[in-house]
Amino acid sequence: MIIRATDLTILAALLLLTGAGIASSAERADSRAYPVATDTRVGGDDSQTRFVMDFSKKVDLRVFTLADPYRVVIDLPQVTFSLPPKTGATGRGLVKAFRFGLVMQGGSRIVMDVTKPVRIDKAFVVEAAAGQPARLVVDLASTDRDSFMKTLAAEGRPARTPTASGQEREPAQKGDPRPIVVLDPGHGGIDNGAVAASGVMEKDLVLEFSVQLRDALERTGKYRVVMTRTDDTFIPLVDRVRMARIRQAALFVSIHADAIKKGEGEAQGATVYTLSETASDADAGRLAESENRADVIAGIDMSHEPGDVADILIDLAQRETKAFSLHFAKTLVADMKKVAKMHKHPMKSAGFKVLKAPDVPSVLIELGYVSSKDDLKQLTSGAWQSKTAAAIGEAIDNFFTTRLAGATAVRSGR
Ligand SMILES: [Zn+2]
Repeated sequence: MIIRATDLTILAALLLLTGAGIASSAERADSRAYPVATDTRVGGDDSQTRFVMDFSKKVDLRVFTLADPYRVVIDLPQVTFSLPPKTGATGRGLVKAFRFGLVMQGGSRIVMDVTKPVRIDKAFVVEAAAGQPARLVVDLASTDRDSFMKTLAAEGRPARTPTASGQEREPAQKGDPRPIVVLDPGHGGIDNGAVAASGVMEKDLVLEFSVQLRDALERTGKYRVVMTRTDDTFIPLVDRVRMARIRQAALFVSIHADAIKKGEGEAQGATVYTLSETASDADAGRLAESENRADVIAGIDMSHEPGDVADILIDLAQRETKAFSLHFAKTLVADMKKVAKMHKHPMKSAGFKVLKAPDVPSVLIELGYVSSKDDLKQLTSGAWQSKTAAAIGEAIDNFFTTRLAGATAVRSGR
């Protein structure tokens, strides 16, 4: 097994806390069942709040805070969360809500949204004893923004952002002239995406669909297909974009199936999105905002992010990429229309972070809405998935045929 740099970072951080041997930690993570989280409790008020999570056995933890929005992040080795549905949807006291899940192989995370700046008063894990489970305890106390920001700076913590999986570092195969298509199943790990009333999660639906689409594309033999994730792992938005850029992908397709919140109208059908500085309509703007929250959800520090979409959408290469993206979006809508129910306005645009590669034509397909009964029925149907994947495959074929024709014309015109 190859231990990636990110894993080593976790191990190193955990070893600092535990003083355990590196070999035993690695073996532990590798060979035995993961600790199981079985229950949570939040108690207290607006000045002091205690968060407790029960585990089948003791876990190591590392706790830190993030600003804008205010969050408390608890990093753990990989654990299995066996908690009732809706756990964390609401909190108490300083904890507004919390979520949990895998952020990378070997690493799980709990992210709490807090109502105001907080200080981590205590954070510890109690061994299981006398029939009681092991307990992770984090005590939070209210503080002011200045002190909060000071502790952030003083922590000087190492970069702990999960990075893309091994695929990223894999060099592009030399001598294979086939274009690379990157398929990006949205969400994953700690970020479930939209969740249907039935409990079906967007992250699972879009992965299943993307695998079908990958297989359909690979069967044609015309493309090399790269997936940003092939399992239930969280991948930061910027890494999804980076994977496409490093591979010099010819096309990036992000796959989603979101929900419309109550009161935002009854949306139905598939929509194709491209990047734009200003949203084509309010719904598109809201969707981009919610998609861009993926990194916030996973507890990633947003303070070192490069500037807004407005300052990068400037040069010629980007204009060309934008034109290709639009062209592909149109092709997609035309081909998908033949088999799938489309939204009444099937082509929209907004400031999606995941579509920001300046040199890779990128679109985001919203397959449908898990909040709509009709859509969900389709989304979970194998027959619908395969005919829709085939239609997208056809659109990709059309895109490359016309794009290559266009490129040749440009080159011979020089
Ligand atoms: Zn989504």
